[in-house]
Amino acid sequence: MSDYHDFDHFGLDPRIVATVKGMGYSTPTPIQSKAIPLVMQGRDMMGAAQTGTGKTAGFALPIIHRLLPQASTSMSPARHPVRALILAPTRELAEQVAENVKMYIAGTPLRCATVYGGVDMEPQTQALRAGVEIVVATPGRLLDHLGSKNTSLSQVEAVVLDEADRMLDMGFLPDISRILNQLPKQRQSLMFSATFPDEIRKLAANFLREPVLVEVARRNAAADNVQQELYRVHESEKTGALLELLRGRGLRQVLVFVNTKIGCRRLARELQKQGINADAIHGDKSQDERTKALEGFKQGTIDVLVATDVAARGLDIVELPAVINYDVPYAPEDYVHRIGRTGRAGASGLAMTIATGAEDRAVAAIERLTKGRIEVKPIDVRRPLRGDRPQRGRERERDRHRDDRERPLPPAQPRGAKAPVDEFFTKPYEPAAGTEAEGKEPEAEATTRSGKKAGKVAALLGGRQH
Ligand code: AMP
Repeated sequence: MSDYHDFDHFGLDPRIVATVKGMGYSTPTPIQSKAIPLVMQGRDMMGAAQTGTGKTAGFALPIIHRLLPQASTSMSPARHPVRALILAPTRELAEQVAENVKMYIAGTPLRCATVYGGVDMEPQTQALRAGVEIVVATPGRLLDHLGSKNTSLSQVEAVVLDEADRMLDMGFLPDISRILNQLPKQRQSLMFSATFPDEIRKLAANFLREPVLVEVARRNAAADNVQQELYRVHESEKTGALLELLRGRGLRQVLVFVNTKIGCRRLARELQKQGINADAIHGDKSQDERTKALEGFKQGTIDVLVATDVAARGLDIVELPAVINYDVPYAPEDYVHRIGRTGRAGASGLAMTIATGAEDRAVAAIERLTKGRIEVKPIDVRRPLRGDRPQRGRERERDRHRDDRERPLPPAQPRGAKAPVDEFFTKPYEPAAGTEAEGKEPEAEATTRSGKKAGKVAALLGGRQH
């Protein structure tokens, strides 16, 4: 595969080239120089790339290029059928992808609509009914619109599953299979995933036709340009350690990850009491609140954003200097996702993890997955806490077992035991009465990977075999 050093040599429509150059893209990123020619040829592709690698342009630009020859300037909705569908796990990621796509199609007659839950359906309905070539959607809300006949997928030429591992993690497989069943058999299919658990391989085997695998980083490898540090502390020292890292290193624009919504709220409050401009972003926050917090963070009025994994998924904050894991994630793949928020687009980043003895196994699992050791650094948790006392070990332990976990703890299973069938995957899709699929908290829909039965994947998907 040859490398492309600028956007002129792909043979992309000149309008696209002019737009991306106008956006300041001068050199294609590695995933772009590999993916763009393949997608332009109409090949199916499996992309092993994290958010922050430029993957959105990697799939969107060639798809737009392929749609342009038949793009209609007519006002008639019938002349603007849905021709490309991009599925994303969260509203935030859907918005970010759509924001980019809308910039890329500026100056062309193509239209793009975003469809996700938790907000009024009506404006989305109007956009869909007016006719739109590119739809960026979260699965549940798209099914609601399809059920209401607000749009049709019968003319889709290209479909993209973005952050496929996360969609599976969030239990979207049944919804995805229903959507794929409504697509024409003759189509181009692309899938992007940062990690490659078996479920993803099975999904790819069913959904993609002779896919080309495009990798830009070692599989499951943590980003090379991210410096990783581990701080071992006692449970009662966690907040003190966090404050030490934030203040001692003078860090600003830091994303702090926690495992539970309640922990997220509580930590943000504690940081505020300590005089730090902090806010929380989690599943109990409305879309408006999340957007506001994210904007504040991007603009620098909020220095520390405390987030759960699901809420932080796909956040596009270019060159975030540091992330801190206040809790070690339950699933090692989440660690890769979390630290992928920093050190993006070639910038170097810092990922610090605060861990207690109870989290040793989770740390070991991360090291196994990333095939590397995280450097243990000393920390002196001396600074006295003003205001509220830090959360005690027992309280934190209690939170861990509350119902609001980001995702359930992996079930305790003897080694080699057969994974139980998760009923979730066999139940038919039921649109929530009066609410939307993504309007429900994604956290509440979370399922563990180990709960999925591998064999079900093929049966559920309408994709082609090869
Ligand atoms: P993504 O991985 O698609 O979320 O992209 C991450 C960020 O990089 C986005 O803000 C893009 O606008 C930006 N970006 C993508 N491709 C390029 C490029 N070739 N040059 C500079 N910035 C880019």
